[in-house]
Amino acid sequence: MLNRRTFLKNGILTGAAFGTGILTPKLLLANASPADVYDTSAGPLSVHPVSHASLVLNTPDSVIYIDPVGGAEKYANLPQADLIMITHEHGDHLDPDTLAGLIGDETKLITNPAVLDKLTGEFKERAEAIGNGDSTTFGDISIDAIGAYNITEDRLKYHPKGRDNGYVMGIAGKRVYVAGDTEAIPEMRALKNIDIAFIPMNNPYTMEVGQAADGVLEFAPKVVYPYHFKGSDIEIFEKMVASGEKDITVLKRSWYG
Ligand SMILES: [Zn+2]
Repeated sequence: MLNRRTFLKNGILTGAAFGTGILTPKLLLANASPADVYDTSAGPLSVHPVSHASLVLNTPDSVIYIDPVGGAEKYANLPQADLIMITHEHGDHLDPDTLAGLIGDETKLITNPAVLDKLTGEFKERAEAIGNGDSTTFGDISIDAIGAYNITEDRLKYHPKGRDNGYVMGIAGKRVYVAGDTEAIPEMRALKNIDIAFIPMNNPYTMEVGQAADGVLEFAPKVVYPYHFKGSDIEIFEKMVASGEKDITVLKRSWYG
């Protein structure tokens, strides 16, 4: 249950609900980054905000890095990636130098088709592309590629429809949506039963906080993380989401430390 969410800050467990017996401090303390930990049917799922659009999901099944950039040293305190997922080709989402430092012997990649076209050599050999509306699996995790694109006239050039991905992952009964760079498109608004969502909000590349809040209120995830929000006021986003009275928890984390 999400109300048993437990928080880890600087290696110290905080928050009241650590009573399930599923989470082990050893596992949590292995990761120095602040993390939020959720119960799933298979064990703990920890969410590690890294920076801007980069995050790590440590699932009961595998370790998933999403859009890792900024140098492999940022990930030194996290377990090695089994899977790296890329939403699109922009430099704050795709960075071959960072990938080179993170890839282990068994690491796989899942990308959108346009990124697969840009990959070379070893990266390409390890990568599988899925396009908008397609699905795949990684171990026990289901992965659906959701569209991610601009719909406002003067922003269409940034993320044209059909090129980039968001992802919905099914992780031991929890559904996690990483939106990528997008506005509040119909595909987002139509999502059902999302437990944890990562939603961008920065102009001009994605959307303003008002549109983000409007979209979030429509698909009503249980928990939403504003991410990719540099320059935006996420306090306003939080207030707008709260005003909708949909029982959505906004988690403001340190993405720009
Ligand atoms: Zn982008």
